[in-house]
Amino acid sequence: MYFYGTTGVNKQGNLEIGGVDAIELADKYGTPLYVYDVALIRERARGFRQTFLDQGMKAQVAYASKAFSTIAMIQLAEEEGLSLDVVSGGELYTAITAGFPTERIHFHGNNKSRDELIMALDHGIGCIVVDNFYELDLLKTLCLEKNTTIKILLRVTPGIEAHTHDYILTGQEDSKFGFDLQNGQAESALKEALRSECLEVLGLHCHIGSQIFETTGFLLATQKIFEKMNRWKNEISFEAKVLNLGGGFGIRYTKEDEPIRPSQYVDEIIKEVKKWIQIYEMNLPEIWIEPGRSLVGDAGITLYRVGSQKEVPNVRKYLAVDGGMSDNIRPALYQAKYEAVLANKPLEKPTETVSIAGKCCESGDMLIWDLPLPAQGQEDILAVFCTGAYGYSMANNYNRIPRPPVVFVENGQDRIVVKRESYEDLVRLDLSLK
Ligand SMILES: *Cc1c(COP(=O)(O)O)cnc(C)c1O
Repeated sequence: MYFYGTTGVNKQGNLEIGGVDAIELADKYGTPLYVYDVALIRERARGFRQTFLDQGMKAQVAYASKAFSTIAMIQLAEEEGLSLDVVSGGELYTAITAGFPTERIHFHGNNKSRDELIMALDHGIGCIVVDNFYELDLLKTLCLEKNTTIKILLRVTPGIEAHTHDYILTGQEDSKFGFDLQNGQAESALKEALRSECLEVLGLHCHIGSQIFETTGFLLATQKIFEKMNRWKNEISFEAKVLNLGGGFGIRYTKEDEPIRPSQYVDEIIKEVKKWIQIYEMNLPEIWIEPGRSLVGDAGITLYRVGSQKEVPNVRKYLAVDGGMSDNIRPALYQAKYEAVLANKPLEKPTETVSIAGKCCESGDMLIWDLPLPAQGQEDILAVFCTGAYGYSMANNYNRIPRPPVVFVENGQDRIVVKRESYEDLVRLDLSLK
C-alpha cells in the first residue's frame, strides 16, 4: 500500500490523515467528504518554491486555482508565498474574497469577457495572459476607456505535444489556446502589443498540457520559445522580462504513474533557461510556473459510505458508494484511474476484485474499475486517494445531488472549509410557477 503525505494507519487500524481518524471524520461530517492533508499541500508548494529560492532566481510559483478554488485553499496558497492563476470572473471573485493580494493574480482564459476584463482592471491584478487577437483589441479598448495600463503576457503555442491524454493537450498547433509560435501569429501579436501604450508586455507564456511525467516537453518548449525570442531580440529589440512555462506536472494516481519530484522539474527548467540565455546572450528572465494538480492532487482523499452491491455472475461485482460522477467526474470524462482502500481496514488483505460505481443515473458513472478489496459490509468507508485536484472544482449537481463538504486536516486538527450543500441550496435559484 502506498500512502501519501501524512496519511497512514493509526492504532485502531483505521486510515488516518493529518493525524485525524478517517472514520471519525466520516461520522462527524457525513459522506461523501473531501479531506485535504494540509501539510502535504505545504510540502508540495515548498518543493516548487525552494529550488528557485536556493538558486537565487526571481520566480513566481502560481497556483492554478482551477484545480481547487475555495477561499480557504487560496488563503493557504497565500500563506505559502504562491501567486495565483484564475481563469474566470468566478475564480477571480473567490481570490478577491479570500483577500489574496491582487498584484500576484494572473488571469488566463481563451474567451475572457468584457466584464471579466473590467473586473481584472478594476482590481489591479498583476497580469493578464492574453490568449488571442480579439482579447488584445478588447483589452486595449478597455484600458483606453479607463485611462489605465496593464501588464500582460502573451500565451503562445510552441507546437509541442506532451505525452498525456488527448483531451488535456493544449500545446500543439491545433489548439484553441494561444498565438501560434511557428506561423507568425505570435510575432504579429507581440508587435501589436508593443505598439500599444497601455499594455506592458512582460513576456511570454506557454502551457503544454497536463499530467506530464517528464521534463522533455518543458525543455523542448523552452528551446522553441528561446529560438523565437532570439530573433525578436535582434529584429525588434524585444527581451522578455518573464517567461511563464505553465503547469501540468504529473502526480501519482495509481502505481502505473511515476512522477518526478517538483524540485527536479524546476531544476531542469532553470538549467535549460540558463543554457539558452548564455547561447543567445540574453538577460535572465523571471521564470514563472503554474502547478495546479501537483500542489493539491495527492493531498485530497474522498471518503464514501459503501452501499448496494450487485454481482454479475462470471463478469464482475459492482459496489456502489454514496457519491460518484457528481463529486468526481474525471473517470467518466478522461477514464482517470484511482486507488482506494476501506478506511476501517486499510491493511486487510484483498480477497476479491470489485468495481466501484457511483449513484448517478448514468452507466458511465464508475469511479474505479477492478479494485482489489477485502470483504465489504455496510459499515465500510471507502477512501479514494488523490482526488484533491479537479474533484471538488468539477463537482456538479447531476441528479440534484448536493456537493460534499471539504475538510482540512493538519496536526491532528480538522476544520471544515466548505459546507455541505443542502437541498435548500439546490433549489435556491429556482423560481416557482405558483
Ligand atoms: C490548467 C492549467 C494549469 C495547471 O495545470 P495542472 O495540470 O493542474 O498543473 C496551468 N496553467 C494553465 C494555463 C492551465 O490552463
